[in-house]
Amino acid sequence: AKAAGRNTLRFFDPAMQAAIDRRYALEHDLREGLLRDEFLLYCQPQFDADGALAGGEVLLRWRRPDGELVSPNEFIELAEGTGLVLPLGRWVLRETCKRLAGWRHNPRLAQVPLSVNVSAQQLRCTDFPEQVLGAVRDTGADAHLLALELTESVMAENLEEVIAKMERLRRGGVTFSIDDFGTGYSSLSYLKRFPLETLKIDRSFVHDIHIDPDAAAIVEVIITLARKLGLKVVAEGVEEEAQRRFLSDEGCDRFQGYLFGRPLAIDEFERQFGHA
Ligand code: C2E
Ligand code: CA
Ligand code: CA
Ligand code: CA
Repeated sequence: AKAAGRNTLRFFDPAMQAAIDRRYALEHDLREGLLRDEFLLYCQPQFDADGALAGGEVLLRWRRPDGELVSPNEFIELAEGTGLVLPLGRWVLRETCKRLAGWRHNPRLAQVPLSVNVSAQQLRCTDFPEQVLGAVRDTGADAHLLALELTESVMAENLEEVIAKMERLRRGGVTFSIDDFGTGYSSLSYLKRFPLETLKIDRSFVHDIHIDPDAAAIVEVIITLARKLGLKVVAEGVEEEAQRRFLSDEGCDRFQGYLFGRPLAIDEFERQFGHA
């Protein structure tokens, strides 16, 4: 046992300790950032097949005191692990609803829906539907213009409970998209049990459609499936004209990606698309 004790000591790894320290520091900074209002909304435009603006996806950014702009890929997981994603997610929903309400009298933006990414933890909150509908009510936003993006894995837990929450929100006018479709392990039969409006094809499939016949086949099948189920299809990560053409030929409804526009600070989005 003594030898084992010494052995465990020998396993101590400075690189691992450094990683733990970084994590703690990041968690601390995230908490501070929330108090200091360091988060902001970006928005990436989506277009229909005729090239008209059809919506925007709200994407969170963290502007650290040194000016660095951090993508949620770098902190969302930690925010989820520490529960910080709850106040952060509430903030994103409120700010999004404020925008929608502010756009009501702008003829170019009044009908433009915004979608918001929702994490598993948020959806697990018993009062999630009330939180969302409360934000809609308090701000005066039109709930029909608010779409929530859920991933397959988020929807896979507590099926009945998730469906009940989604239905409550659906009755309030809010719509739902499945995000990153095709990457999770959901059974296709789920699709018709959830009150869904839209299916977003993951960009890993879009990326290869013009070079890899398998990726092309998968995208074809997803679009056909969506159409038969009466769902709209959004393709994300469209970067090249060849990808757009393929998707468009297959009947994809909406397009999002660098080919059409990068995520913009939401003020900038408003300036670019809200003016004549
Ligand atoms: P996502 O929901 O799949 O969002 C799309 C990501 O793809 C965004 O990264 C976007 O900037 C990026 N993207 C858009 N077009 C292209 C393209 O043509 N090519 C490539 N390579 N990438 C493209 P972003 O903004 O860094 O967000 C990363 C992820 O963080 C999101 O992935 C989403 O899962 C999560 N996220 C973002 N905002 C929120 C939020 O408010 N709450 C939660 N819970 N998660 C969020
Ligand atoms: Ca998304
Ligand atoms: Ca996505
Ligand atoms: Ca993704």
